[in-house]
Amino acid sequence: MLIKFNNFKNGIHPFTFETKVEELGIQDNFIGKVLLNCEMDKSSTQIVINCNLIVNAKQVCDRCLFEFETEFKSNFKNIYFITHSKSDEQEDDNGIYYLSPDDDKIDLTNDAIENAVLTIPMKVLCKEDCKGICLVCGVNKNETDCNCAIDTGSSVWEPLLKLKGKLN
Ligand SMILES: [Zn+2]
Ligand SMILES: [Zn+2]
Repeated sequence: MLIKFNNFKNGIHPFTFETKVEELGIQDNFIGKVLLNCEMDKSSTQIVINCNLIVNAKQVCDRCLFEFETEFKSNFKNIYFITHSKSDEQEDDNGIYYLSPDDDKIDLTNDAIENAVLTIPMKVLCKEDCKGICLVCGVNKNETDCNCAIDTGSSVWEPLLKLKGKLN
């Protein structure tokens, strides 16, 4: 995912990179192709690169354990200042980078990997209103309606009530 920016005039240039998850080493979390659509805005003092990343992943729903494939999208923007006086305190941080006038290319591979990993949500649901699994009979309630739902409330208390009966 290299942009050889010296080959381009000042102005706006689109780029599309397509690669496989194996190429980026993120096959543990993602599957298939990785797509990176970028737009480079180049001037003689700075380069701004705006990218949309699309990755695909196999996910397991936290609520119903259904395995499904889903697409994650992410957007990131990097600014590269071209400076003759690149010093040590100018650390690359938060999408801001410093290039020396001798540099001729930008590598977006690490940005793609980092942003892909950031798209993984803490909580995974197959859909917003996933009904989950019935705790009594184990059916996936998105697919099948069962009649245990009403009993669930009382069955939780049943052992306690029995105990209470014995104590009395
Ligand atoms: Zn689900
Ligand atoms: Zn049930």
